[in-house]
Amino acid sequence: MIIDCHGHYTTAPPQHAAWREAQLAAYDAGRPAPPYPAISDDEVRESIEGNQLRLLTERGADLTLFSPRASAMGHHLGDEAVSQVWARACNDLIKRVTDLFPGHFAGVGMLPQSPGVPIANSVPELERCVLELGFVACNLNPDPSGGHWTSPPLTDEAWFPFYEKLIELDVPAMVHVSASSNRNFHAIGAHYLNADTTAFMQLVQGDLFGRFPGLRLVIPHGGGAVPYHWGRYRGLAAMLGQPPLDQHVMGNVFFDTCVYHQPGIDLLVGVIDPENILFGSEMIGAVRGIDPETGFHFDDTRRYVDGAGVSDAARALIYEGNARRVYPRLDAQLKARGR
Ligand SMILES: [Zn+2]
Repeated sequence: MIIDCHGHYTTAPPQHAAWREAQLAAYDAGRPAPPYPAISDDEVRESIEGNQLRLLTERGADLTLFSPRASAMGHHLGDEAVSQVWARACNDLIKRVTDLFPGHFAGVGMLPQSPGVPIANSVPELERCVLELGFVACNLNPDPSGGHWTSPPLTDEAWFPFYEKLIELDVPAMVHVSASSNRNFHAIGAHYLNADTTAFMQLVQGDLFGRFPGLRLVIPHGGGAVPYHWGRYRGLAAMLGQPPLDQHVMGNVFFDTCVYHQPGIDLLVGVIDPENILFGSEMIGAVRGIDPETGFHFDDTRRYVDGAGVSDAARALIYEGNARRVYPRLDAQLKARGR
């Protein structure tokens, strides 16, 4: 089967985003937020069937790891209480999708992060997502300030309580920023890729996996600039007195295939061990539209993986085997359904 490790609910019924606007307006005005609106099962179903499910099926994939819209996490907006309520609402909506389409979507949670607030305060929502909602992973924002980088690096002990819980629950985190509140950084063209690259370099500098050998982090968008500059990171690891990257970082870090052209995927599979690559498309999301050079959607990443010069065994790892290993709760759910 083909597992897409990276999809967001970018097509949620409009009441959801409208309520978020109202929530933030109420916060600004010092009023309580209005009640969350009613959204029918039919509305949820329609928002998925004509969009993600249709494209998933057309492209021949089977299941998407589905999380709330990343750019709308907006951890820099409001305060911690606002983020707590918003994260719960977003995760509850994902749960409704996974209940309506259990064969096609598995849940990935967002966290109620807020700048300056300890990450330990996000642990209860992580536990709720995994233990009550049946989610198989979460998205962890390394920069809840939205492009101002006011948090310590991911290797800092401030993050450790969260890593301990990830390990206890046996779920990975995708390192995924949200919108940019810094106009120097376009959200998906710069802020996302900056964050992917920044997170990786932090891991090279530190020794996070020496401390947490059971921790698994997914760096999306093909690993940002990392595969293209692999020689730079290997050289920097040596200069910094760190072990080679395959021992130091790559036992615990995985890149997805959200790279939107064939030469980019060719480079990814040529540089990174297939065991560290997870199929992903980030559909429907970052880059919509059709590539005039190919006639196919930019984010139809299955075409690039199919077209890449890798063995059938490596391709099977990228499509399925690695996801089952990195997301053991997904593997267990699939096996329980005989898949
Ligand atoms: Zn994403």
